[in-house]
Amino acid sequence: MRAVVKYKREDGNTEVRDVPVPEIEASDVLVKVAYIGICGSDPHMYHNQVSYPMAVPLILGHEFSGTIEKVGANVTKWKVGDRVTSETHARFCGECVLCKTNNYRFCRERKGYGFGVDGAFAEYVRVPERILHAVPDSVSLRDASCTEPVCVAYNVVIAKTGVKAGDSVAVLGPGPIGLLCAHMAKLAGASNIAVFGAPGDEKRLEIAKQYGATETHLLDGSSDPKNVAAKFNGGYGFDSVIDAAGPTATLKLSMELVMPAGVINKVAWGPKPVDISLDPLLSKGVTLQGSFSHSWDIWEKVLVIMGQGQMPLDALITHKLPLEGWKEGFDLIESREGLKVVLKP
Ligand SMILES: [Zn+2]
Ligand SMILES: [Zn+2]
Repeated sequence: MRAVVKYKREDGNTEVRDVPVPEIEASDVLVKVAYIGICGSDPHMYHNQVSYPMAVPLILGHEFSGTIEKVGANVTKWKVGDRVTSETHARFCGECVLCKTNNYRFCRERKGYGFGVDGAFAEYVRVPERILHAVPDSVSLRDASCTEPVCVAYNVVIAKTGVKAGDSVAVLGPGPIGLLCAHMAKLAGASNIAVFGAPGDEKRLEIAKQYGATETHLLDGSSDPKNVAAKFNGGYGFDSVIDAAGPTATLKLSMELVMPAGVINKVAWGPKPVDISLDPLLSKGVTLQGSFSHSWDIWEKVLVIMGQGQMPLDALITHKLPLEGWKEGFDLIESREGLKVVLKP
């Protein structure tokens, strides 16, 4: 089968190769991949700009949907032809305290698709049945390939931040995760959703208006974002701020925009050292928390949301390319020309 393989831990060194179809074990299924989304982390891995050691050679890709091609000997719940999507947690021990408390995404033995084990930029991928989810009939396989980032947004906005009706929420960074977080805040009932972007994000801020944003702001130095925060909660600021951008500057801005006793939720990585005072967290009594990934129950909730047509993805999925177009897809993400780019093997 054809697959996009990263074969050396150096910048570049990635190509389409002909590789064997994965072998499955008794509790696995073999999924024929229909669509795979390109995540912001995929170009980072291409450039070898990640802090974790990739197990090269490695097939990239972790946001996928497809149909079952083959089932293992112990699989009873699934059959050939079922439309499915899958969590990214290809391996975890299932026995440790984190696995036993629905925190298996933090298991020390967790290996994610396209990071620790072969991913889905390929014609077929092996999936353990415990992380499979059925795609509702009303959801296309194209849209189902975006279930993973929608689950990230659900975890941030609903499971962790606890956004509720009447809230005022700021979202920093109008990439796919930022826009999905804005839309999730709308589903949670937030009344004011302000999305902030940097120069170059103009197009994305336009699209944000279709994803729950009640207002958008370009951080180009022409106005003070603190004046935006002053419109809410009697001048105190936003109930919560979601940092979907990552650099130190947005953490600083988050501390300025959030109201006392509010919540900052950091979902974007920012591997550089933070060279600012964190004292506003103390003086404002703010909770700063991080969000990583998702769990089985979140996937089921999100598929209900998608099945009811409550998560429109047409404006988010800007490009559809063949597997061989992976590099063009990575370039579209890096230039911010594309939002969500999906590949079809
Ligand atoms: Zn991702
Ligand atoms: Zn474990």
